[in-house]
Amino acid sequence: MYHDNFDRSRQDKIEQISDFVKRTGKQIKLRVCWESPGGSNCCECEKCSITMIALMLENLDPKKFGFYFNDDIYKYSKKCLLEGKWDFIHDDIDLWKDIKKHVSDSDEREFFKWLKSYDLNKSIGKYNTFYNKIRRKTLATYKKIKA
Ligand SMILES: [Zn+2]
Repeated sequence: MYHDNFDRSRQDKIEQISDFVKRTGKQIKLRVCWESPGGSNCCECEKCSITMIALMLENLDPKKFGFYFNDDIYKYSKKCLLEGKWDFIHDDIDLWKDIKKHVSDSDEREFFKWLKSYDLNKSIGKYNTFYNKIRRKTLATYKKIKA
């Protein structure tokens, strides 16, 4: 188990982890989530998503680091960035910017090409639009009914 405050870390740290894993063949479980109770990663919040994308940028499989996600992480992250699903508290936008900075020019993956050209500042502020406030309220109510 690898506990860390990922708020203050950077893609460089992921690169270090990547080196370590490739060198030693050891598995590391990352625990980054604040949303999920019980010590697992929810794989939906901004923290989980950023970490998964950061791992994938290094060609690492998030599943080997304690993340379980069935859908397309690229698609999901892009949608959340474009639609303002995340509020970017805890300076998460800086982590996205850091990932963006580390995307190499020769990276042919669609998501990273898109990210490289996307102005992340556009995602800030969307969270508090009227539409997103309503959507969150509806979701919260729905969860309550289900529970
Ligand atoms: Zn999470």
